[in-house]
Amino acid sequence: MNLLLMFLLFAAPTASDITLRLSRWKPVDMPYDSSGLSARQRQLVDKLVQASRLIESIYWQQSDPEGLALYRSTKDQNLRRLLMINGGRFDLIDENKPFTGSQPIPPGRNLYPAGLTRAQIEAYVKSHPDQKDSIYSSYTVLRWNGQKLDAIPYHVEYRSFLEPASKLLREAADASDDKEFADFLRLRAQALLSDDYYPSDLAWLDLKNPKIDIIFAPYETYLDDMLGIKTSFESALLIRNEAESAKLALYQKYVPDIQDALPLPAADRPSKRGHLTPMEVMDAPFRTGDLLHGYQAVADNLPNDPRIHQAKGSKKIFFKNFMDARVNYVVLPLSKYLMPEQQSARASAEGYLAATVLHEICHGLGPVYSRMNGKEMDIREAIGPVYSALEEAKADVVGMFGLQWLVDHGALPKNRLQEYYASYVAGIFRTLRYGTAEAHGRAEMMEFNYLVEQKAVTRSGSRYAVNFEVIPGAIAQVAKELLEIEATGARARAEAWFNRYDKMPSTLAETLRSIKDVPVDVEPKYSFPVMDLR
Ligand SMILES: [Zn+2]
Repeated sequence: MNLLLMFLLFAAPTASDITLRLSRWKPVDMPYDSSGLSARQRQLVDKLVQASRLIESIYWQQSDPEGLALYRSTKDQNLRRLLMINGGRFDLIDENKPFTGSQPIPPGRNLYPAGLTRAQIEAYVKSHPDQKDSIYSSYTVLRWNGQKLDAIPYHVEYRSFLEPASKLLREAADASDDKEFADFLRLRAQALLSDDYYPSDLAWLDLKNPKIDIIFAPYETYLDDMLGIKTSFESALLIRNEAESAKLALYQKYVPDIQDALPLPAADRPSKRGHLTPMEVMDAPFRTGDLLHGYQAVADNLPNDPRIHQAKGSKKIFFKNFMDARVNYVVLPLSKYLMPEQQSARASAEGYLAATVLHEICHGLGPVYSRMNGKEMDIREAIGPVYSALEEAKADVVGMFGLQWLVDHGALPKNRLQEYYASYVAGIFRTLRYGTAEAHGRAEMMEFNYLVEQKAVTRSGSRYAVNFEVIPGAIAQVAKELLEIEATGARARAEAWFNRYDKMPSTLAETLRSIKDVPVDVEPKYSFPVMDLR
């Protein structure tokens, strides 16, 4: 037997390893309740579900086509389930380790040629400056063509999926009695075939309290650990939760005041007055692509395009059914192990919702561009690969800064403050169980280590207590640091900050490992099949 064959045999997944990895996920039904919908609305939903399945197919092409082939060919139901949870062969909640085969995760997934390095891309662009824009585009994949590096537009690379998806969106538009939503769907159908999402994103932000809405675009850069710029496709079908949407009005009223209160020079916190800040609390009975695999988002802030942020702001979406599942099955059970009893009892679904609402609001606050040598630069580009973690951390700590501000200014009752902080810290423990490879985990590890260093969180045995006197000042300090890093595009400062604070302390790792009976996250079970498996 040759060495390579031996290596491959030993790297094959074992049944017990797969079972162990699966045990971290709690299957939870995410039912589609069509009782409040008209026949035409149900028809509309049906078209959007079909289109969302095509988004799922594109995602696998971007993430791990070999994983998809394995998903289609294997008879092992447990392996199939684990592949679907992760959208590939790499465990997103275990430092991206491969759970089948021995190939480590490619940093650029299938968005870049295998083996290509960041240094090679930079050298290539230096000698081919005319290709710089297309190579650094968020909507191209890179492929070798002999000695030439081709940047292939998404609408070309994924045409076989995007053309039928575009058609389905137009058919959905025909079934919609909401004229603005129908107009948006037609614009988005065009965008899929041109990679120009700007006009349809503007139309999406103009929707006024739609009963049915959809996220349907390449938005996030979580798959791209090479340059941190290539987007992956995602979809979420959304049905409005009327009662909960109404409760958001209070936060919306104060968004401009929180922006004005940030510890930054005025030029780095452009006024939010008069800007649209649409928010929707929605139930999501179907999500695909980047919104299906791994980490289950309970909220989103979109689009990411800074031109849209400056022109119109962004839309915050809270996935109510996912929020409820997370708090009930993960956050509250976990906090009982990690916090003193009287503090874990303070953590609550409402406190968690408040922190999450502010997190999403604060993705849209702070600087819009980095100012470097008098020039405006895209923050994502200025900061590089650590940007995703930096931006998640900024949203967390500026969010808590904002909650404190709302209490200090009488907009929220003072007696809720401890509940907000306890819920925020309980939420950190949940995120850290994912490890620190993913942007949110790396962000919250940094926040937690900083809070412990500042004695805003203190350890006693295996439990961690919030010091309610100290935490407001510590949060204000770290918020200022992260906002300044973004405003000045300080890549080296960002990397140094994360290098100092983003390591998991062994004591905490041990405590987290010892908790076996709380799932790491929920695995959504939809009323609709996720993939066409022919
Ligand atoms: Zn976020």
